[in-house]
Amino acid sequence: MAEPELVDVVVVGLGVGGEEVAGRLAEAGLTVVGIERDLVGGECPYWGCIPSKMMIRAANALAEAHRVNELAGSAEVRPDWAPVARRIREEATDTWDDKVAVDRFTGKGGRFVRGTGRLDGRNRVRVGEQVFEARYGVVLGTGTRPSVPPIDGLADNPYWTNHQAIEVEELPESLLVLGGGAIGLELAQVFARFGVRVTVVEAADRVLALEEPEASEIAATALRADGVEIHTGVKAERVEHDGASFTVHGGGRTFGGEKLLVATGRRAHLEELGLETVQVDAKQRYLPVDERMHVTEGIWAVGDLTGEGAFTHIAMYQAGIVVADLLDHMRRTKGGPDPSGTASVMGGAAGAVSAVGGAMSTGSTVAPGSVPVADYRALPRVTFTDPEVGAVGLTERQARDRGINVQIGYTDLTSSTRGWIHKAGNAGFIKLVVDADQGVLIGATSVGPAGGEVLSALVVAVHAAVPLSQLRHMIYAYPTFHRAIEDALRNLR
Ligand SMILES: Cc1cc2nc3c(=O)[nH]c(=O)nc-3n(C[C@H](O)[C@H](O)[C@H](O)COP(=O)(O)OP(=O)(O)OC[C@H]3O[C@@H](n4cnc5c(N)ncnc54)[C@H](O)[C@@H]3O)c2cc1C
Repeated sequence: MAEPELVDVVVVGLGVGGEEVAGRLAEAGLTVVGIERDLVGGECPYWGCIPSKMMIRAANALAEAHRVNELAGSAEVRPDWAPVARRIREEATDTWDDKVAVDRFTGKGGRFVRGTGRLDGRNRVRVGEQVFEARYGVVLGTGTRPSVPPIDGLADNPYWTNHQAIEVEELPESLLVLGGGAIGLELAQVFARFGVRVTVVEAADRVLALEEPEASEIAATALRADGVEIHTGVKAERVEHDGASFTVHGGGRTFGGEKLLVATGRRAHLEELGLETVQVDAKQRYLPVDERMHVTEGIWAVGDLTGEGAFTHIAMYQAGIVVADLLDHMRRTKGGPDPSGTASVMGGAAGAVSAVGGAMSTGSTVAPGSVPVADYRALPRVTFTDPEVGAVGLTERQARDRGINVQIGYTDLTSSTRGWIHKAGNAGFIKLVVDADQGVLIGATSVGPAGGEVLSALVVAVHAAVPLSQLRHMIYAYPTFHRAIEDALRNLR
């Protein structure tokens, strides 16, 4: 057996979270080994956020062009997928090549190892024949993969996951989408706008089932207007593929499509990580962490794997905490004041440029011994359909289930000045969930042409527990979409 090689930190999985942790620790002067079995950067830049948002940008341009007829004369639109596929291949993913990302990491002083990492006892990680022993810690950032439901006939057939949907060069004539969550709906709308006949089959009684029912309704209406067939409350029971197309059986009905996209959620694969060698239960759905991302002594986890929300901004947020905590742990292990100077580096060196853009730096200045802890109260989430569905904090149902004395404020965007001016494509609303006893917002949903952007004001309000009295007496620019927040506040009851 190979002698273990002693390093400061080992990071397993260099997706959004792992790459950020590994890069920042390397920049801080630690010896960091980063292990990635596929592409450095992970799901977001190659098969997730970035290419899907490029697709959405293109599909929305088509939709806007159609709106010319209602607002500004006439426009003839001939969709063409080729420039979208080219942009994803050339601009987003370098044809799914991570050389730039690997160089970025090694340029910061990190040591890159391509392979599958697995815990091999406390502080140890094995990659093939190599074994690394971490002086200060091991960070797991191995993410999730699509969760494929155990539907009869599905596993044996060439279904799509988000990977094939993002890599597609020639669009199919028709597409069946299993799952009406954020990923399913975003991709369904894109393909429909490019002329694909799309059918969404969702087991829950509404699409976007985790969001407010009003958001589900408006999203379903928008997709139907784009020609998407939506069937809710249908549990797929059997899948058939005849070599040319798929048939899904469920609820006594059948649904057909040339391709089948499975978008029924994501799953962490804990069983692959060697967790039993450090006495951690690998049979859980996600890897539980404490508020500083500790799994167990000497092991941290970051990103989708932790089950705190499958978003790039969560992975980046948690990465900031892991970096601070690991440096603090190192300082305490070594004793005395911060030996690497990293407590002060934290503020400045935080600007690590990640695979998905420098704007995502999550740095915070950390005094030795004072490490920020995770707080998910104001976790924002955006479904980038048109209209966009942005949400933060608790939904009305979640708040009522917690026994909170709830007040709701609602306003329709179409009746706001900006919504009325906007006209074509102006569907949307603002819904506020208020803790009436505390006099603060605890949740909000913002749907509209800029629903995700309008959300930012509501995130600040929930995060900082801004008193309602203050929200009511601030000035909202006229005529913006976000001015509708003021209307919703007026309607609180
Ligand atoms: C279609 C789609 C659209 C999305 N859109 C958005 C969006 O708009 N906004 C948003 O915030 N989020 C979005 N997401 C979610 C976002 O992509 C994830 O939250 C993010 O990628 C999570 O980062 P991560 O570091 O936890 O994991 P990942 O990005 O999944 O990276 C984990 C990495 O670990 C590697 N790995 C796994 N096991 C091992 C091992 N044993 N050894 C070595 N390497 C290993 C994997 O190869 C992978 O590269 C989207 C996701 C999808 C699928």
